[in-house]
Amino acid sequence: MEKTIRVRFAPSPTGYLHVGGARTALFNYLFARHNNGVFILRIEDTDQSRYQESACKEIFDSLKWLGIEWDEGPDVGGDYGPYVQSERRDIYKQYAGQLVESGNAYPCFCSPERLQKVREKQQAEKQKIGYDRHCRSLSESERRKLLEKNTPCVIRLNVPLGKTVVFNDAVRGEITYESDQLDDLVLLKTDGFPTYHLANVVDDHLMKISHVLRGDEWIASTPRHILLYEAFGWTPPEFAHMPVILSSDGGKLSKRKGAASVLDYCRAGYLPEALLNFLSLLGWAPGDDREIMNKEEIFSAFSLQRVSPKASVFDEKKLEWMNGQYMAQRSVESIKGDIIQGWKEKGFIDRNADENDEYLEQVIALMKDRSKKITDCIDNSFYFFKDPEGYDEKAAKKHFKPDAAKHLQVLCDKIEASDIFTQESLENIFREYAEKAGVSGGKLIHPTRLAVSGVSFGPGLFELLEALGKETVAKRMHNAISWIKENKS
Ligand code: GLU
Repeated sequence: MEKTIRVRFAPSPTGYLHVGGARTALFNYLFARHNNGVFILRIEDTDQSRYQESACKEIFDSLKWLGIEWDEGPDVGGDYGPYVQSERRDIYKQYAGQLVESGNAYPCFCSPERLQKVREKQQAEKQKIGYDRHCRSLSESERRKLLEKNTPCVIRLNVPLGKTVVFNDAVRGEITYESDQLDDLVLLKTDGFPTYHLANVVDDHLMKISHVLRGDEWIASTPRHILLYEAFGWTPPEFAHMPVILSSDGGKLSKRKGAASVLDYCRAGYLPEALLNFLSLLGWAPGDDREIMNKEEIFSAFSLQRVSPKASVFDEKKLEWMNGQYMAQRSVESIKGDIIQGWKEKGFIDRNADENDEYLEQVIALMKDRSKKITDCIDNSFYFFKDPEGYDEKAAKKHFKPDAAKHLQVLCDKIEASDIFTQESLENIFREYAEKAGVSGGKLIHPTRLAVSGVSFGPGLFELLEALGKETVAKRMHNAISWIKENKS
C-alpha cells in the first residue's frame, strides 16, 4: 500500500501572514489535494520572544479567506494533536532526554558570557564562528556535579564529525553539506523550551509528515534536521524547498513591494480566488499555456516536478489583470455586499440603502467587468450617485470644444422630446443626428460621456445613459452645455 501523503504548513505566529507564507501554505495544500493526502496546520510558537498574540488569528483568517482548508489543526483537531507547539513542551523534553540518554545529545553549561568570549576570540582570529564544543568533552562526573548544583544548561546535539550529509530535494536535486560546518545545535533552551529544530523534527515525525514543503530560507536547516532524524533513528521525510519570491524590480519582497499581508490584499479589493490562482503560479506552472485556473483545475495539475528552483517574480500588474478576469466572472450577487458597503462608507449612498435595490445591482453589473478590483468598482462608479462636480481636465480640453455645446444641445432636445428612453432609442438618436450633421459618432459620444460622468472612461455610453435615467441625463447635459459656454467661448 502506498504511504499516505501528509504535509503541513507550520507558521510561527510572529506577525501577519505575508504572501510568501501563503504561497508555502498553498503549495502544501495543493500537493495534499492532488495526492488525496492530508494537509495539516501546525502553529510553531516556541519562540516566546517573537510571539504575537494576534498573529494566530490573522493566520487563520488569511488562510480561510484564501480558501486554503486544513484537515488537521488547532481548531479542527486530529489524531496527532495538539497542533500548537507550546502545548507540547513535555513531549520535546522527553525526546531531548532520550537523545542525551543515547549519547546523541549533551547538556551544555556554558554561560552567555563564555559564549560571547568564544565568539569574540573567533572573530579576532578570523575563524569560523560557532560553539567550540566545550561541554561535549566533559566527563560524566563533571556533568553530574554541575547538574546536582542545578547549573542552568541547554541541550545540544552531538553533531558527528567528518560526515557528509546528503539529501535529495524534490525541487533542487541532491544537496550536500559537511557536518563539520555545522554547530552542535541547541535543542532545548535553558527555559525548557525547545528550539525550532527540535520541535519541528519531533512533530514532523510524530505527525507522520511524509513531505516537508517549505520556503527556500530553511534549506540550511535541513542538514541539521537530517542529523537529528539519524540521532533518533527515524526515517526523514522528503524535502522540497520552494523558490524565493522577488519583487518586480528584482529585489527582495518588502511590505511596500508586494510582501503585503494576505489580508491587505483583501482590503485592497482583490478576490481570494484571483490571489490563490496568482500565488499558485509563483514557482509552479501547469506545463501548458493556461493561466486562469480554478482551484479544482490547479489541484489536478499540481506536481512538485513542475516546481521550478528559479526565483519567481511577484508581478503586481499581472495580479491586477488576473483579478480583473475574476471580477468579470463573478455574479453581481456574490460581490454586491462588499461593493454596497463600500458605497455606504464613501457616502455615495444612504447607510440604510437596500441591498436588493435594482439600480445598485444594475450599476454593479455595468461596472464589474471593467473593474480590476472591488475597490475600483466602488470608487469609479461615483457618477451613478451624484452629478459631476467638474470635468476631467485633459478630456475637457479634447472633447468640450465650442461645437460640442451645439451638438449636446441638439441631442438633449431630441432626448427630452422622445417618449422612449432605452439603449436602442438613444443609439438611434445619436446615429441619425451624426448622419444628418455629417460628424463621426465619436464627436457626439465622447462629449456626452464627459457631460454625464465627468470622466472619459466607463461602461458603454448607451447602457450608461439608460441606467442614469432621462431626467439625470438631461440635467447633466444642460450643465455641461453651460460649462462649455462659460469656459470655451
Ligand atoms: N516555523 C517555521 C516558519 O515559520 C517553519 C519552517 C518549516 O516549515 O520547517 O516558517
